[in-house]
Amino acid sequence: MEPPQIYVERTLAIIKPDAIDCADEIEEIIYRSGFTVLQKRRAHLTPEQTSDFYAEHYGKMFFPSLVAYMSSGPIIAMVLAKENAVNYWRELIGPTNCFRARETHPDSIRALYGTDDQRNAVHGSDQYGAEREIRFMFPESIVEPIPSGQAAKDYLAKLVNPTLLRGLTNLCKQKPGDPITWLADWLIQNNPNKPCVNDKVEIVEP
Ligand code: AMP
Repeated sequence: MEPPQIYVERTLAIIKPDAIDCADEIEEIIYRSGFTVLQKRRAHLTPEQTSDFYAEHYGKMFFPSLVAYMSSGPIIAMVLAKENAVNYWRELIGPTNCFRARETHPDSIRALYGTDDQRNAVHGSDQYGAEREIRFMFPESIVEPIPSGQAAKDYLAKLVNPTLLRGLTNLCKQKPGDPITWLADWLIQNNPNKPCVNDKVEIVEP
């Protein structure tokens, strides 16, 4: 019997200026929750860039203060991948308003790290906005559909198995004391699709 198909999805997460000092803890939650971080960028957006990013909220009462807040300091933007990533990430971050989050979702990221209904620590795309927001923060990225079924098998055979085979062959030659950690380190160093991680503060140019 064919195993059930798994559809991996991407979403955009942002650690907002008020939570930047807790970025390591939030990233730890992200990894523990089973997400893969495909791309990561630290940036300081201008008010104009922030207005473009939040264009759908233009005209709302809170828009000017949202723009001022989101351009007040550095942020960390990440592309997260996982099955059902958009909904899963939104569930993990909790309701927009931190006071409500503390009542209804006390373990959520906004309940733990947010301050109020605006300074709510993190952003998560919705189903319709994810692709646009990923392109906005990572304009150089190519958002290809993630393969499934036979296409996923072909992808693994072409792009993953050869690297894995090289790693396992080297492992057998080296015979390290802790083979799992050795292989994990080897794969990080020899990943042909290394994520683009840039920890320098920069202005994003969409
Ligand atoms: P969303 O697109 O739903 O993530 O909303 C964008 C951001 O706007 C939220 O994450 C909050 O930081 C802010 N925001 C949303 N609603 C309000 C509100 N009623 N008052 C102040 N800020 C808000």
